[in-house]
Amino acid sequence: MSNLHDIPVTTRSGCGERPVLRERGQREVFCGLTGIVWLHRKLQDAFFLVVGSRTCAHLIQSAAGVMIFAEPRFGTAILTDRDLAGMADANDELDRLCVTLLERRPEIRTLFLVGSCPSEVIKLDLARAAERLNARLLPQVRVLSYSGSGIETTFTQGEDAALRTFVPLMPHTDARQLMVVGCLPDVVEDQFRRQFEQMGIADVVFLPGRRASDVPAIGPNTDLLPAQPFNGDTVRALVARGARLLHAPYPFGAEGTTAWLEAAARAWGVTPAAFDAVTAPARARAETALARQRPLLAGRSLFMLPDSQLEPSLARFLHRELGMRLIEVGTPFLDRQMVSEELALLPEDAVLSEGQHLERQLARVRAARPDLTVCGLGLANPLEAEGLATKWSIELVFSPIHGYDQAGDLAELFARPFARRARLAV
Ligand code: SF4
Repeated sequence: MSNLHDIPVTTRSGCGERPVLRERGQREVFCGLTGIVWLHRKLQDAFFLVVGSRTCAHLIQSAAGVMIFAEPRFGTAILTDRDLAGMADANDELDRLCVTLLERRPEIRTLFLVGSCPSEVIKLDLARAAERLNARLLPQVRVLSYSGSGIETTFTQGEDAALRTFVPLMPHTDARQLMVVGCLPDVVEDQFRRQFEQMGIADVVFLPGRRASDVPAIGPNTDLLPAQPFNGDTVRALVARGARLLHAPYPFGAEGTTAWLEAAARAWGVTPAAFDAVTAPARARAETALARQRPLLAGRSLFMLPDSQLEPSLARFLHRELGMRLIEVGTPFLDRQMVSEELALLPEDAVLSEGQHLERQLARVRAARPDLTVCGLGLANPLEAEGLATKWSIELVFSPIHGYDQAGDLAELFARPFARRARLAV
């Protein structure tokens, strides 16, 4: 009997939409806990407590690195065999642990309880735990909960789930404002804020901001400008609160950044002359930086395995601004509402695939022998051993890559494997 998961399906879901190769099978991605690595750096008054196993603790510890001089703002409440067997009251234990943690860390204002595979298997209700703790701890500390579990998810969904928890807390406002949705490094946030201000868009809020306790307001005069394509659930929850979604490519590269800023400028009535005056110098800098990397990348073939959900945006950038030839653009989930502008800019002859069937995708990589394969950490070494150049997709989420001033660095991340090989060949 054939397994339904083994049958590849190519679908075209609407008039004019490009076909998508849908894959279902063995997956090779990190889980949503990984988002804690960049979220805890951004949210300076928050603590992320994973309720999970030693495996979960190892994942976070090794992904985030060991902090020697600072107390980390993440940790794991490890479920033991007694908890898993239902022999101990995990709820009492969790409450006790949270209270002890907060007594020791009085600077924490928001505590995220992060669910994992083990906590979900024993059906530990973290939403109810958060309610219970809030009754004790508010207004000093707010407790929120979300799932970072690895079942049927990919690692960038952890950020979406975390940001989604803020939406019900947001007060209503009728004020006109622009909300940028997606976790950005502070330096990038400052650059964008400056550019918006220079255009005359002064009422800009970032979700998340630097403090989890500063929850922005939302309402019918809020324009949403997503900065990351993987926060679809958060964006839809914000739209349900009355906000208006601005559609644009993402701010990767000179072209993407211009189109992204332009979407806000159009909505706010900024004149083309004012827009050009603000953006032209930075855009010229970005184009110069890209021109330096283009000789290493132009004409090279690229295969993207599904991992970060950034794939359609990065493929657009690498093809249109650096001349790379796209063989296949794989993404774990294709959220058309979030990437429609990107899909329209991808070349017709590139295969677009959604989901993962590891063996079949690896067979296509081996048959195509691309000049560069973008993939998860676990696949990079085996492919390198077969003589294929690789780039870890997770590095693209950890690095500042948005905006004009980072365009050259972003291109350099892809050019580096070629530069390294050229040095080794000398
Ligand atoms: S949440 Fe699940 S997939 Fe992630 S580290 Fe823990 S056990 Fe593994």
